[in-house]
Parts: sequence; C-alpha cells; structure tokens
Amino acid sequence: MGDMNAKESTWRQATKLVRGGTARSPFAETSEGIFMTSGYVYDTAEQAQRAFKGEEKRFIYSRYANPTVAMFERRLAMLEGAELCFGTASGMAAVFSSLACQLKAGDRVVASRALFGACHYIVTEVLPAFGVETELVDGTDLDQWQKALGQKTDAVFLETPSNPALEIIDLAAVAKLAHAASARLVVDNVFATPLLQKPFEYGADIVVYSATKHIDGQGRCLGGAILTNDAEFFNDRLIPFVRNTGPALSPFNAWLLLKGLETLELRVRRHCTNTHAVAEFLSRRDGISRVLYPGLESHPQHDLAIKQMADGGTIVAFDLEGGKEAAFGFLNALKLIDISNNLGDAKSLITHPATTTHHRLQPEERARMGIGDGLVRLSVGLEDPEDVKEDLDQALKAARG
Ligand SMILES: *Cc1c(COP(=O)(O)O)cnc(C)c1O
Repeated sequence: MGDMNAKESTWRQATKLVRGGTARSPFAETSEGIFMTSGYVYDTAEQAQRAFKGEEKRFIYSRYANPTVAMFERRLAMLEGAELCFGTASGMAAVFSSLACQLKAGDRVVASRALFGACHYIVTEVLPAFGVETELVDGTDLDQWQKALGQKTDAVFLETPSNPALEIIDLAAVAKLAHAASARLVVDNVFATPLLQKPFEYGADIVVYSATKHIDGQGRCLGGAILTNDAEFFNDRLIPFVRNTGPALSPFNAWLLLKGLETLELRVRRHCTNTHAVAEFLSRRDGISRVLYPGLESHPQHDLAIKQMADGGTIVAFDLEGGKEAAFGFLNALKLIDISNNLGDAKSLITHPATTTHHRLQPEERARMGIGDGLVRLSVGLEDPEDVKEDLDQALKAARG
C-alpha cells in the first residue's frame, strides 16, 4: 500500500472528499482498489505472532480492518474532522455498537424521544433487556434534558433533525448538560449529513451515520460509520466490541461509499436547493395543514436550525388534511415520486411514517413525536424540482377529488 499523502490535512473539503484516504496499491490504479479478501497472509509464523500481539501494524482479518474499508473510514473521518472512524455494515450496526460497547447493566441512558424507529427500539427494548436504564425526553425542551441529566448518566443519544418530524435539538446545550452528568454524547447525524452539521464542533463525543442514506445516495448498498476523537472510547471500548461481535462493512460496499463521498458535496447542495423549492411550493398549497422544513422561517426552530446547520437539509415533512385516507390517496396518485422508506437518494422518495417506519409505536407515542396519521415524509431527489412539484401538484389535486 502506498503512503498516505502527508499534505492531506491541509486540503479543503472538496479535495478531501475526492482524494482523502486514498492508498494506492503497487498497481498505481486511479480509482480506489476493491480488496475483496477476508484474510491476509504472513511470510512466517513469527510475523503472524507479531501481528496478533500488536507489535506489527498490518491487516489481520477483514472483520477487524480491510484496505478498502480503511480508505472509506479515513475519507469520512477527514470530512467530519475526527481522528478515528470505524465503518459498519449498516447505520443500525453503527448506532447499536456505539452504545452497546460502552454500556453495562446498571448504566443509564438519556435519549430524545423523536428517534428513527430502529433507534427507538434499541433504546427502549434492547438496552433495557440488558439492564440499562433508559429515559426519553422531548429533545426540543431543554428543561427536560436538564432534569433527566440531573443524575449521573453514562450515555446521551439523539438525532437532529429528527426522523420524520424534523425536530431540531440544541447540540451545544445538550452536550454541556451531558458532560456535567459524566455522559458521552452520541449524535446520529444522518439527516444533517456530514456536510450540513458538524456535531463535534458543538461538543459531541461520538457521531454515527447510516451511510446508506446520502453518503451512498444512489440506493445501492447499506453501510454505516462511527466517528470520534475520544481515543479511550475508540481503542478500549469500541474496537474490542466490534472486532468480537462482527458488524464489519463489506469492502465492496466501502468502495461504493468512497465513490459516493466523491460526489457528496455536489449532491447534498443540489438536494438542499431542490428541497427548499419544494417546501416553499408545498407551503402555498391547499389541503396541507403544516409543512415542516428547517430551512423555512415557519419551522418552529428555524433560528436554531440555521445556527447549527449550514442549510435546511434534504427532507421535508408535511401534514395532509384528512389523515391517513388523504395521505394514502395522495401517495397512490404520485406518478414520479416513489413510495419508499429510504431517504437521501437521487430519486425523490416518499413515505407515510405512521404505517411504515414508525408503525410499531403506540399511537400516543407517535403523537408525542409529532407523527400524525396525515404526516408524510418526502426525501427530495436530484430530479428537476419542477417535475417534482408538478407531480406533487397533480397528486394533491387527484387526492382531493
Ligand atoms: C436510516 C437511518 C438509520 C439506520 O440506518 P441503516 O443503514 O438503514 O441501518 C439510523 N438513523 C437514522 C436517522 C436513519 O435515517
């Protein structure tokens, strides 16, 4: 493997996204090599012994590390402004590993209530089954955070903007409260993307991604990542946990994600422009009682959103008058936008959270999370926004009869 370019750290963001972490093999390939190998060979038995003792730094087994995965980890770490990164097979593997590696029975977790469905399951079902006490708070209410973090806590977990109702949580304020309670703050930064929000600048200790979303951004693979500057957490908690439990990222998927990072800035910028245009368009339409987009002044936390995010994001949520029936009629009338629960994709995708991503929750819990029966979540793609607006317009008219 070639040496990492020593000048990497001085590169600007776009350069990091295209070249960061590239480690060329002796074949001097232009594009990053895909090392589809589970293991590695040793010249001698002594060398294998040294590798396992940690005396010789080299690849041992792809459950631990792999050259293509390492390039992805390095490139994403450079973008995030983190020293350490571990790539995972999915976003959920990243969320679960980041929490499970540092928690044990008797520990306490405080999390925001407005979470992605599977994150909610980990916090409210999986962790409590292992004896971890968890408390959920309204993430937008600092008094609730303060109260919940008034006692010793081990980890704080949150997502901002939240899925699907796009609530914004004050990262700097929660980080301060978390640290006062001796907790590490874990931020699921998927909705903001690594470009629009830098949680480490606000005090986060660990940032997790589903790379399935914007980082791939083209609907091709699952992937995830855990990033941190906390060497004690990474080396003593996370690495032993992931090496022995196996959430490793496939080299092929890492390669797709490397290619995704090369175009991430272009795509996210265009996604944001398109989403803003679509959100404004929806705000002027009949039959919609509420449009939620952090980039619109009408968003209840617009000021906080523009303080901690560089743009409004790639997702808009809106409530249709007429509840589930109206939402289903509208979704079924769409001709261009696809019904799909994925997001951050080049294709515009729409979902009805109450009956899909969040269907397992009790109706009262959904209501507390702002997920009514008329709520739909639209991930605006890279199509011409005029075509997206036209499709929304014809479906709104068709659904109202
Ligand atoms: C999709 C998503 C996840 C899970 O990621 P997968 O790659 O699907 O496992 C976690 N958190 C948020 C906010 C997500 O949108």
